[in-house]
Amino acid sequence: MLSYRHAFHAGNHADVLKHALVVRMLRHLAQKDKSYWYIDTHAGAGVYSLTEGFAAKNAEYENGIARLWERTDLPPLIADYVDEVTALNADGELRFYPGSPYLAWRLMREQDRMRLYELHSTEIDVLRHNFRDAGRRAMIYEGDGFDGIKAILPPPPRRALVLIDPSYEDKRDYARTLACLEESLKRFATGTYAVWYPIVARPESQRFAEQLKAIRPNGWLHAALTVRQPPEDGFGLYGSGMFILNPPYTLAAELKQVLPYLVDTLGEDKNASFKLEHRAA
Ligand code: SAM
Repeated sequence: MLSYRHAFHAGNHADVLKHALVVRMLRHLAQKDKSYWYIDTHAGAGVYSLTEGFAAKNAEYENGIARLWERTDLPPLIADYVDEVTALNADGELRFYPGSPYLAWRLMREQDRMRLYELHSTEIDVLRHNFRDAGRRAMIYEGDGFDGIKAILPPPPRRALVLIDPSYEDKRDYARTLACLEESLKRFATGTYAVWYPIVARPESQRFAEQLKAIRPNGWLHAALTVRQPPEDGFGLYGSGMFILNPPYTLAAELKQVLPYLVDTLGEDKNASFKLEHRAA
């Protein structure tokens, strides 16, 4: 039984880090005319209302996207992402938040394709509804994304961004993500893979970055943002990380500027910090 609903967390600090990087990586793929695929193993609902339902209840976006909304000093990488959120809120009021499939859809060109997996029966209905006019350029599969992508790698154009973004509420997601990456690299070694992970007070989370980095000696980037001190009761997300295999080659340099900015704008106490590690290919 799946209980996680991403809407509770839409637009929070973790979504900011993840989605700003997804936009940046898709921009990189679009620098060449040749087509690419965007593959999302854990797609969610696609678009979220911030003023109604689950997101309004927790209002996590208030410490995420809302803190960037009216800033005039955004670094280019963050400004590009915020522009995409703005496009969904044409009247200037922050009411809707794009999930990763929607951001990818906005950036896709005619020649590009999208493959989305979602296991939750309610989320998939919303996702299908949100993409009802997309046609065959966006294929949506109801099912397990870890298993599903085995059938579609390597993608025909041999260029892709694969986002692996489980909720990790089931602690098996950590091991499944590692296995999925290793298996996927055998099928498609040159793809760009982005793994999001939560920084929470549980051993699986604390050792995860080291396990990800051990997959390959080089050709990776690890960016993590901690927004507050670990909670005393041991519960709750206090940061998140993105681990990227085959990242754009300028990304590490860009993040040297971006991550301190996110610490300043999204940090909630004096323990806010970032980590940036990179091994060039
Ligand atoms: N990628 C989305 C975004 O950035 O907007 C958010 C995804 S959310 C963190 C994780 C989603 O994965 C949830 O909607 C959940 O229902 C779904 N899910 C959980 N286990 C899954 C699995 N094994 N395969 C595919 N989807 C799964």
